[in-house]
Amino acid sequence: MPSRTYAEQKILRGLTPHTLAHVSQLLEVAPLLRLSSGRRTAQRNREVGGSPRSWHLRGRAVDLIGPEWDLTRAAGEAWALRVGHHCTGPEEVLLEYLGGPRQHLHVAW
Ligand SMILES: [Zn+2]
Ligand SMILES: [Zn+2]
Repeated sequence: MPSRTYAEQKILRGLTPHTLAHVSQLLEVAPLLRLSSGRRTAQRNREVGGSPRSWHLRGRAVDLIGPEWDLTRAAGEAWALRVGHHCTGPEEVLLEYLGGPRQHLHVAW
């Protein structure tokens, strides 16, 4: 994986092994994207207005930021990519706008 910031490495360490495998694969095909969120505590999830049943609470979701074209392409890749024979693909792939023009890609596995 290309160089990742300390904050991104911390996000990667909080993920389940299966989700980590998916995120690593996705970042290889979309290396310009940056991780902005991963596992959240219940308190943090409330603060950011996350769903009470968010996959972030289980370390199974990440949010990615970056150029809009790369986010859109990565959304398509996320639906298609699999890790291992028993993998059924992602649970959620959402391009979201959190106020303002900036977009992020949420993917849960
Ligand atoms: Zn999978
Ligand atoms: Zn998210």
